[in-house]
Amino acid sequence: MATRFDVAVIGAGVFGAWTAWHLARRGQRVLLADAYGPGNARASSAGESRIIRMGYGADELYTRWAVMSLAQWKEFFAAAGERLFHETGVLWLAGKDDSRVRHAAEVLARCGVAFEELSRAELQKRYPQIGLDGIAKGLLEPHSGVLMARRAVAAVAEDALRCGVEYRMAQIAEPQGKEGIAAVKTQAGERIEAEQFVFACGAWLGKLFPDILGARIFPSRQEVFFFGVPAGDTRFAPPALPTWLFQEDEIYGMPDLESRGLKIAVDRHGERVDPDTQSRMASAEGAEEARRFVAQRFPALRDAPIVETRVCQYENTWNGDFLIDRHPEMKNVWFVGGGSGHGFKHGPTVGAYVAARILDGTDGEKRFSLASKETVQKRAVF
Ligand SMILES: Cc1cc2nc3c(=O)[nH]c(=O)nc-3n(C[C@H](O)[C@H](O)[C@H](O)COP(=O)(O)OP(=O)(O)OC[C@H]3O[C@@H](n4cnc5c(N)ncnc54)[C@H](O)[C@@H]3O)c2cc1C
Repeated sequence: MATRFDVAVIGAGVFGAWTAWHLARRGQRVLLADAYGPGNARASSAGESRIIRMGYGADELYTRWAVMSLAQWKEFFAAAGERLFHETGVLWLAGKDDSRVRHAAEVLARCGVAFEELSRAELQKRYPQIGLDGIAKGLLEPHSGVLMARRAVAAVAEDALRCGVEYRMAQIAEPQGKEGIAAVKTQAGERIEAEQFVFACGAWLGKLFPDILGARIFPSRQEVFFFGVPAGDTRFAPPALPTWLFQEDEIYGMPDLESRGLKIAVDRHGERVDPDTQSRMASAEGAEEARRFVAQRFPALRDAPIVETRVCQYENTWNGDFLIDRHPEMKNVWFVGGGSGHGFKHGPTVGAYVAARILDGTDGEKRFSLASKETVQKRAVF
């Protein structure tokens, strides 16, 4: 007889892997399924690296979630014997409008997060390798940094399997039912029975549930570039250079980590894409923009070669708040997604939150509800 699981988690990106992990730790019989594999090359979670920073401007909810998540990532890596978090520090840079950095300082102080405010003169002295035109001040989170994303997701999924989770490489079809469902089907026709079903399908949520989510998840193409640093030059690696964000440029980056080169990524939303079929080749225009930016902000790397590129997609909700809620009709079907370009760091807390909603019946955060999801984009969470 086929196994009946307590929970089937569909999608083994950072949200699904951590959800399966938490459910298993709480004694549930869990199936984890993914169409292409945990942290596969098409998934949003599959990048080389992702920032974990505590600052969210005036938005205290995500600051508190980031604080909880960083503690759990560190605990997890320590237990697993993996070095997949780099404490590079995260430097916020502010230009004319410094409101975001000011608000972040207030929230970080309230949440007990260590930070340092830096004047332009201090920035110049500490980071002579950064071109500071238009930058007035900075805020450094010394204990934040970078998660090695793809490998971190693979490690969480592997540990979930050690905790008893069963893994299936399978594409799950859109479930059909009225008030609830007893099973889902793989594209190959296999039936998977469970009490609860969590769809943590990233940018695919809109494809899988076109009527409900087709107009509520906005997948956008995002390109990432790594610039090779000069031989023997340590100015662009930690501890000399932290991870940095400058919202006015809509570009952020990371120091040379594990010798991949200086990472440059544009945070502005790119064109709408299909996560199954979009090309993973970076565009000439994207490369040109990244080069111009490097020449301005890191003049010593003006002629540096691009040594690697990545193309990925954000799975945006209208304003950037996550989507974590039940299906409106099928009460044992859950949507977990809408990471919106900032979700990776929160994986551990998302997983614990989903487990608590399913097992303890805890109330849902209104900002994550399906009802709050509009169909026209107006980004508010950065
Ligand atoms: C370029 C880039 C930079 C980013 N930078 C940061 C950052 O610095 N910090 C940060 O915190 N976040 C960042 N993010 C956002 C973060 O990476 C995502 O929000 C997060 O990884 C989303 O995880 P997920 O599990 O929801 O989705 P995914 O990782 O996309 O996982 C979804 C999974 O579902 C599977 N799936 C889909 N449909 C099916 C189906 N029918 N059956 C079975 N499996 C299915 C897919 O194969 C996939 O593995 C960035 C994202 C990008 C693209």
